[in-house]
Amino acid sequence: MSETHIEVCSPATGEIIGSVPIASPDDVAACVKTARAAQAEWGARTLEERCRVLRQVKNVIIDRTDDICDLLSKEQGKPKIEAMVHEVANLVDLIHYFTSEADRILAPEPIPLHLLKHRASYLHWSPRGVVGVIGPWNFPFNICNAPVAVALIAGNGVVVKPSEFTPLIQDLAKEIFVQGGVPEDLIQVVHGYGETGAAVIDNVDMVEFTGSVATGRKVAAQCGERLIPCVTELGGKAPALVLPDANLDRTAGALAWGGFANCGQVCASVERVLVHRSVITPLLDKLLPKIQALEPGNTQEDDAVQIGPLNNRRQRDIVQSRVDDAVSKGAKVMVGGSVIEGPGNFFEPTVLMDVTTDMDIMSHETFGPVLPIMVMDDVSAMVEEANRSHLGLLAYVFSRDAETARVVAEQIEA
Ligand code: NDP
Repeated sequence: MSETHIEVCSPATGEIIGSVPIASPDDVAACVKTARAAQAEWGARTLEERCRVLRQVKNVIIDRTDDICDLLSKEQGKPKIEAMVHEVANLVDLIHYFTSEADRILAPEPIPLHLLKHRASYLHWSPRGVVGVIGPWNFPFNICNAPVAVALIAGNGVVVKPSEFTPLIQDLAKEIFVQGGVPEDLIQVVHGYGETGAAVIDNVDMVEFTGSVATGRKVAAQCGERLIPCVTELGGKAPALVLPDANLDRTAGALAWGGFANCGQVCASVERVLVHRSVITPLLDKLLPKIQALEPGNTQEDDAVQIGPLNNRRQRDIVQSRVDDAVSKGAKVMVGGSVIEGPGNFFEPTVLMDVTTDMDIMSHETFGPVLPIMVMDDVSAMVEEANRSHLGLLAYVFSRDAETARVVAEQIEA
């Protein structure tokens, strides 16, 4: 018999904390149809009216911050304070920005025509129809619902397919949008695996996808088949370049945050540290104690826990395989290096030295609490190494001199 439900497990304890029904392709088609019918009325409302509703949604999010942060801690594993800063505050800020600026952003734009001066041409913005939002499990509240909010402001209906690992938070998000005044039929949530995501793409008018490169490639190809637009926000392998004149106190703090916030499960995480040889010893003196002090724990039980578990067992195994590969090729473990045995998905905060470019950890996304450090002799070699990645999403440069940092940053393809 085929699976009908997804059971959601606590990343900290392995206990089942909820369950959601799996939507079949026919269910997805029906949801898109319902959203499409509701969109006709919503799209006909004035922009001002839609923004008014979204401002109410923003206020409900603020009122329900504790519910959201508690569920994110329970289902995703992150500390509640990070849930507040990274997911709730971000989304609130984004809704505030777009409801304040929508008038300007969606104003018709005159198109200057040099040859046909007797004609007036304008670019008008109209809703696409139904936008499909397919999201990952690392920031499941913010990343799924930022595109939802923007699509709604612009007059669209939405169908959201959250990750199989974090479906519960999207059910709460829908409740919040509806509580704020969004018509219930206009926002649909469908649960399931890749097949459900693919069914969303088969039925909607535009796709906003955030996730891995491998899935993003499939999503873009499927959208291409249907000739519908898609936005893909994919993986990263951000390098952090530490120049000889860097402020090392601030650099050590930034690396600890950049590598270990959300247990390293961030597309913008520092995934490679490239340090000038002249500062490696004092930098390690400042950095290592900070990492040694990070004690992974259950973020549900103690608000003082600074780092939670990895979200799922698959991710924990990927992190272990990256570290094992590096160690087998000569990397030195300075801190951590292993899974913490038990029912949860905990992994020790880890710092590796003596890493080389042939190690997977320097080429493939790790998405976990690991900082591999490479010592280098000159800045041009650091730039070359930074650019040796196809995942040029973000990069960081540390220098006391803003002009030096800018010149280096502009050479990085990210
Ligand atoms: P995945 O690509 O594995 O999954 C993303 C979503 O796509 C999930 O909901 C998944 O469902 C769904 N999906 C899987 N197969 C298909 C398919 N064939 N068609 C349509 N949808 C499908 O990513 P993760 O969830 O593992 O997220 C982590 C990744 O996201 C990392 O690479 C990270 O860097 C990236 N990311 C990028 C960000 C950015 O802004 N650039 C921000 C945050 C994360 P299911 O889970 O059920 O398989």
